[in-house]
Amino acid sequence: MRLLWAGPYSLLGLLLAPFFRRRSRRRGALVCEGAAWPRRLGWRYRAITFGHVVLSVDDLDERTFEHEMAHVRQYERWGPAYGPAYGFSSLKALVKGLHYYRDNGFEMAARAVEPFFPPRTPYGSTSDTKNDLSNDGPG
Ligand SMILES: [Zn+2]
Repeated sequence: MRLLWAGPYSLLGLLLAPFFRRRSRRRGALVCEGAAWPRRLGWRYRAITFGHVVLSVDDLDERTFEHEMAHVRQYERWGPAYGPAYGFSSLKALVKGLHYYRDNGFEMAARAVEPFFPPRTPYGSTSDTKNDLSNDGPG
């Protein structure tokens, strides 16, 4: 049921999965790692989650994986409403003069699990990642 509820988003993730070098199953999620093309298209984050599919430009470290798993649980809770709810949370942050990503409630909740895990490993795949944003993606 939880799989079905997050299904529309997982489907989007599955469409992108073949364009990553490695795929594995971890704790009920499909984890896809290794791709240079998102960077070339201007993608600035390390990972993004669509439903039960986690996409990462490089090897996912434990802390980032747990952050993304928090997003998986959010998808399971919100189902089809997750996208609009996430967008609304970004809008709310912007209206308050805050950052649309860092101060998004879903991101703050996902970051809350991080202190329980080892620090993130540095990026492995590319050098154009010196942005100061947290290195995971929306969703
Ligand atoms: Zn996140």
